Amino acid sequence: MKEQVTKLQEEFTNRSSEELLRSFLERFGNRIALASSLGAEDQVLTDIILKMAPQARIFILDTGRLPQETYAVITENMKHYQRCFEIYLPDTAALESLISQKGPDLFYESVANRKQCCKVRKIEPLQRVLKTVDVWITGLRREQAVTRTGIQPIEWDESNNLLKLNPLADWSVAEVWRYIRANQVPYNRLHDQNYPSIGCAPCTREVAPGEDLRAGRWWWEAPEHKECGLHYRDGKIVQRSAT
Ligand code: SF4
Repeated sequence: MKEQVTKLQEEFTNRSSEELLRSFLERFGNRIALASSLGAEDQVLTDIILKMAPQARIFILDTGRLPQETYAVITENMKHYQRCFEIYLPDTAALESLISQKGPDLFYESVANRKQCCKVRKIEPLQRVLKTVDVWITGLRREQAVTRTGIQPIEWDESNNLLKLNPLADWSVAEVWRYIRANQVPYNRLHDQNYPSIGCAPCTREVAPGEDLRAGRWWWEAPEHKECGLHYRDGKIVQRSAT
């Protein structure tokens, strides 16, 4: 599959997000899935995908510490699209062991503790579900961060050994919100309260005007530590706004 990436990139040059998604959904069927964090970009993708492939796979990582507003989006999605979503939880034994040893709010105590919590609550469940697909779809956009300026619509994910599809790579934040409003897509109400990036409740706060989009994530840590480890490019972690 890795060898096909350049060929696929050439084949899909200058294709719209819809064309890219339609072709890949047809080609990969049950072996392609959207990883949804329920943020604005993933809600746009959910809407586009379900309009063209109502049975397409969409999965959500429920860390157990999501804000109530995010759980409300899951409920709203189920009603709006009249379907179920794949929801993955942390491994019970691993989580019980972590919390028993370090307490429920371990992440405030050190970067190592925070990474351990992200590993148990997010990374391991993600790796578990990625074993079931050949392609994962993400809502990454180039504009989200300087670390993302090189993002391609089709990439090889070295760390997970599969194809990664970023159909919104070229979209601006204005385009994302234009799509949401025009299509009446459900969205997380925290976005209306200055939360551009929404993760777990204890690790997310609102941002002040002019602040970096990720300033509200793990705000107590130095910027170079702000990652959860879900996305890698060229062996380096790519920071993500909504996971
Ligand atoms: S974002 Fe916070 S609560 Fe969520 S998994 Fe990471 S450290 Fe744990």
